[in-house]
Amino acid sequence: MTMSILDPYTLGRDGLAALLDDQPRYRAVQVHRWLVRGVDDPAEMTDLPRGLRQRLAELLPPPSVMLRHSSADDGLTRKVLLGFPAARSASKTPGTDSPALGIAGRIKESSLRTDVETESVLMCYPARDGKAGRATVCVSTQAGCAMGCPFCATGQAGLRGQLSVGQVVRQVTVMQRLLAEGAVNVPGVPDHVTNVVFMGMGEPLANLDVTIAAVRWLHDHDGFDLSARSITVSTVGLVPGIRRLADVGLPITLAVSLHAPDDALRDDLVPVNRQHPLAELLEAARQYQDRTGRRLTFEYVLIDGINASVDQARRLAALLGGFGAHVNLIPLNATPAVPWRAPPVPAQRAFLAALHEAGLAATIRRNRGGDIDAACGQLYADYAMASGRTLPAAVGAAERLSVPQGVEQLTGAPPS
Ligand code: SAH
Ligand code: SF4
Repeated sequence: MTMSILDPYTLGRDGLAALLDDQPRYRAVQVHRWLVRGVDDPAEMTDLPRGLRQRLAELLPPPSVMLRHSSADDGLTRKVLLGFPAARSASKTPGTDSPALGIAGRIKESSLRTDVETESVLMCYPARDGKAGRATVCVSTQAGCAMGCPFCATGQAGLRGQLSVGQVVRQVTVMQRLLAEGAVNVPGVPDHVTNVVFMGMGEPLANLDVTIAAVRWLHDHDGFDLSARSITVSTVGLVPGIRRLADVGLPITLAVSLHAPDDALRDDLVPVNRQHPLAELLEAARQYQDRTGRRLTFEYVLIDGINASVDQARRLAALLGGFGAHVNLIPLNATPAVPWRAPPVPAQRAFLAALHEAGLAATIRRNRGGDIDAACGQLYADYAMASGRTLPAAVGAAERLSVPQGVEQLTGAPPS
């Protein structure tokens, strides 16, 4: 994992205090407070002496840049493309002989990141019928993803790299700042982030240390102070990661992406199922539920003609009976590489009804941000298109599964 140890989010208050050990401790607290409020440019940290601001600008990675900010759903959904400029070379850091710069002096150039971009989405839900308003940020943990789920644009693009703690946390604080500055001017929308979901680009449990550190940063009572229950980590089903997340000892909500009621279909829709089949995954999920006391969420993308029949709904219900979990149905959002579509609305409702009949708590996720490619599975569609790179496995799985049952696939010349 490449991660600059000067990432001020990784350092936290204590690390910042060590970095500034010739300063009174409250200076580190001031810097941390600015980061919590969404300010990462030392030039804007106006309660610090000018000299200290300059020194921080030399020590810390360059501030992130908002490259694009798009809006949908009458302003209630925002997608932000953040750019992280390459960190300065450590050899150019002045004053590395100072004891206060001990950490900086030890940095090797190879540990510094180059340019990275992240996409994240803010979804606002105004207060209604006595229910409090919510402002949920969906964050990415990786640039791209290596898991290769054929229906997902991020998976189709492959993995470009891991994000650092700062690059994950910054996606949240930048939205916090937008809200605090009144960018979403709709009555009943909170002026701060109320929920964070790790459901953007990438597999959070394949960048586990960073995911856990980001969760801790967001949860810190003296900092961002988000309750663990307001944080959801979504996983494709990496069993060792689920076990380690349970060890963190925080009641983070775990969402498990299931998408199929049996191993044969899941092997194709979620290739990592070949390493961690359903029985093993559900066992780990049950242990997570027992240890944290948190009700699980299962996500299930509905794909017409593939996994969305009433019979499949009944088999899904049989698999999940006894969990007391919540099933979140996500009608498929179109992606560039495969021709699959969501089922028609009546078929979606029939699937939902079959789950309800079997006694499961289930809902269909309201689609947000489809107009700006901000909906589930659409992030980094631009990258997939621009690079022209689509995982052959994605297309292969789509072709294999799309052959209607009972019809032989033609491999040679058509019969005369
Ligand atoms: N890698 C993690 C988290 C990111 S994906 C995971 O897979 O769980 C977040 C959710 O979006 C997952 O449930 C995923 O299956 C779903 N998703 C991916 N592509 C989608 C698409 N094209 N349409 C709808 N949902 C999609
Ligand atoms: Fe990765 Fe999740 Fe997309 Fe699968 S669905 S490719 S795990 S981001």
